[in-house]
Amino acid sequence: DRLVAATVQGPELHQDHAIRPRSLADYTGQPQVKEQMEIFIRAAQARHEALDHTLIFGPPGLGKTTLANIIAEEMGVSIKSTSGPVIEKAGDLAAMLTNLNAGDVLFVDEIHRLSPAVEEILYPAMEDYQLDIMIGEGPAARSIKLDLPPFTLVGATTRSGMLTAPLRDRFGIVQRLEFYSVEDLTTILARSARLLGLDADRAGVEEIARRSRGTPRIANRLLRRVRDYAQVKSNGRIDAQMADAALNMLHVDTHGLDHMDRRLLLAMMEKFAGGPVGVESLAAAIAESRDTIEDVLEPYLIQQGLMMRTARGRQVTDLAWSHFGLTPVVSGSN
Ligand code: ADP
Repeated sequence: DRLVAATVQGPELHQDHAIRPRSLADYTGQPQVKEQMEIFIRAAQARHEALDHTLIFGPPGLGKTTLANIIAEEMGVSIKSTSGPVIEKAGDLAAMLTNLNAGDVLFVDEIHRLSPAVEEILYPAMEDYQLDIMIGEGPAARSIKLDLPPFTLVGATTRSGMLTAPLRDRFGIVQRLEFYSVEDLTTILARSARLLGLDADRAGVEEIARRSRGTPRIANRLLRRVRDYAQVKSNGRIDAQMADAALNMLHVDTHGLDHMDRRLLLAMMEKFAGGPVGVESLAAAIAESRDTIEDVLEPYLIQQGLMMRTARGRQVTDLAWSHFGLTPVVSGSN
């Protein structure tokens, strides 16, 4: 199991509820997103209208679900949540849509994974608040139209490029979440530590922040693991030294890279002379899916300047060679 995995399960989900921010004021970082959403929400409220459909994209764990819930909270409406792969039939989506009240938010995570048949239902629903579905089969089949209450679709996706153009065009608001700075993650962690009743000093949470891949979900997860370590190894107090020792034990390096990141970069350097190498070859070399590389692993590595995407494939940078203390392989083409 990957420590820096970006999905949540089991008891962690419960703890997560305790520290998840509920208002824009508590949503740390992402200043542009916050400023814009604040204005759009206030304006829609003043007009007594539903907020425009909103698309949020960014790598896992950056706060898409959190933001969707905050939008509903700030608008003073209910939110119903689902995800692309869960909606199997057009009828499933129709059932959800007809259950909404005026102004409600329908949150669809992984919206790029909707089936084409379901997506088609969504177009008139988004555009005209109209449901247009076929009922029955064969010669008895007929189409019916239903009016829907005005609602806000909030869609989340890891990559905007995965969305079909007609779907993307129907979102009036598009927000892109960025990786968080160490400073913002420190603020987030200090808040989490307070809410969880932990004894942590500033240098301690800052050390965790530095090694959290710019991702709040990972930061909060590492905080819990450091807490365990501090509790067993000493008196539970989290300072920089304790955080460093715990994270070293967890094999999270000083850049926040874990074994999967290292495996990816090392494969590029050792098997492909640093690249360029196609993403499919890379996926085969480290026995991971292409999606995992593109959604989870490489966005942070690219942002950190350890690798880049070129027209000919993925390539490591000088920084990656030096991070691993390796000598770049001199290739003719580069
Ligand atoms: P995503 O939907 O993008 O995968 P989530 O919204 O589930 O990510 O966020 C993961 C966790 O990170 C949340 O439960 C919350 O505790 C924390 N988090 C995310 N964004 C922020 C933020 N801006 N400020 C504080 N905590 C955040």
